[in-house]
Amino acid sequence: MSTNNNFSTLCIRGGQDADPTHGAILPPIYQTTTFRKKIVGEDQTFSYSRVENPTVAVFESRLGALEDCLPAVSFSSGMSAVTTLFLALLEKGDHVVCSDVVYGGTYRFLTEILAKLGVTCEFVDTSDPAKTEAALERTTRLLLLESPANPTLKLTDIKANCALAKKCGALAVVDNTFLTPVLQRPLDLGADITIYSTTKFIDGHNATVGGSICTRDEDLRETIAYFRKCLGTIQTSQNAFLTLQGLKTLPLRLKQQTINALEVARKLEKNPHVKTVVHPDLPNFPQRELADRQQVAGGGLVTIVLHGGFKEAANTLQSLKLCTPAENLGTVETLVTHNASMTHASVPEERRLQLGIYDGLIRISVGLEDPSEIIADLEQALTVAFKEVCHA
Ligand code: PLP
Repeated sequence: MSTNNNFSTLCIRGGQDADPTHGAILPPIYQTTTFRKKIVGEDQTFSYSRVENPTVAVFESRLGALEDCLPAVSFSSGMSAVTTLFLALLEKGDHVVCSDVVYGGTYRFLTEILAKLGVTCEFVDTSDPAKTEAALERTTRLLLLESPANPTLKLTDIKANCALAKKCGALAVVDNTFLTPVLQRPLDLGADITIYSTTKFIDGHNATVGGSICTRDEDLRETIAYFRKCLGTIQTSQNAFLTLQGLKTLPLRLKQQTINALEVARKLEKNPHVKTVVHPDLPNFPQRELADRQQVAGGGLVTIVLHGGFKEAANTLQSLKLCTPAENLGTVETLVTHNASMTHASVPEERRLQLGIYDGLIRISVGLEDPSEIIADLEQALTVAFKEVCHA
């Protein structure tokens, strides 16, 4: 993983540095609903915390500095970032093209809510740009890409897909939650917008739920911030404060989590109960060339498919002693998720299986515990799980 950048500095000091009022090193948590009006009839930066808040603004300027764009716009969750973005940019009759493997909540919002509002969406295998090109229509307003995709880790060529969106006048949006600006730079590859669940790697400590949107386009930023005000989806000052603390160690954490993930992946490749192991830094990763060209490193997630189905996967999660069976990823704690029954439960079974999100698929978000202990725990859980199924 290259260290030839200033990400570590930007994560600690980017945007606003010390608090301008008293020089506090950490930005104060502005736990206030409203702000004294200075001159009636004149706009002021902070007036009401549903619109803007000084602590949230510090986080936004820091993430913007890291992404090399305007200050981010931050939200109460990754999903409120997704929903506010779609409601801000789309109207009845618009068409969306979306990566076929995406976070289940994004799929649910597009198919259950936006469909009711008259926005149509086509889910395509964006890992093949020819399929994206075929899906783009005259009415396509937005192309949403997720790379690596949750949970299969399939990659999409961001540069090629963004060029196609531009050609047909659609906005290109990349959900960069899995890699963050430290490991992947979609805005430099032609995306108009990046979107984050900051709940994941950016916070990194299982302390908050949050989301952010980044762009270099002033008009887009203004529209998104206006819709956030209308919808009331801003982040709280407490969560902005906590996320700022997590952000400081993001490059260090990502570096070590990638190392740990690769160690876990290599070991699980030898496990008799595991059919497939996916990590973008493994030599046999099917999109090797794209991974090398597009990402700084593979990141902290490992996806495995077991020689078995739901029972074996569920037993594995329930037999863990150190790692935690839970939804979420990118945190210092190793979290193990059964996506078919958890994050992607709202995707119809037939579709889920077509996309490779099998009942025996497990996503491991490798944390910062000692890797030998993570591996030992996963191995003992697999042994117990398969023994139990044999005896059942
Ligand atoms: N995008 C991706 C890739 C995700 O994995 C998630 C959640 O898992 C979200 C968006 C939604 O984020 P949140 O849970 O913060 O609402």
